Amino acid sequence: MNSIALRGRFVDMSGHEITGGCLCGEVRFVATAPPRRVTHCHCGMCRKAVGAVVATFAAFESNCVEWHGPLARFDSSDRAWRGFCGRCGSSLCFGYKPRPKRIYLALGAFDDPNAYPAGFHDYLDQKVTWLKVDGHLPTAASAKGNSS
Ligand SMILES: [Zn+2]
Ligand SMILES: [Zn+2]
Repeated sequence: MNSIALRGRFVDMSGHEITGGCLCGEVRFVATAPPRRVTHCHCGMCRKAVGAVVATFAAFESNCVEWHGPLARFDSSDRAWRGFCGRCGSSLCFGYKPRPKRIYLALGAFDDPNAYPAGFHDYLDQKVTWLKVDGHLPTAASAKGNSS
């Protein structure tokens, strides 16, 4: 294992610390390991949830992500929930109930989204027709080791 518990908090020994948060600053997160994958999701539910034409999420192990401030939660279906700031409304994460050990953080909420380019698409069949983004990337379903 590449991390140690320091005063109850996991610190990645490779020095990774990824920070982000909502627009008003009330809810912040720290991830102590790099994302497993970053995916553009084009499904209609993510589009509504984030209010943007594509939702880009970075997948992490839940125990590598520490939250500061009150994360509000909306169960968007039997299988999924959305985390957001109850004060400013920023969309912050997505959770897939059958896989509780994973959390998908909204890349747009990262302090430095430039550091984590997307590697995959999900639900390309639902993509907004005029949107052109990362046309060279594979879909997650066709990619080896699909986990989202
Ligand atoms: Zn906020
Ligand atoms: Zn989606």
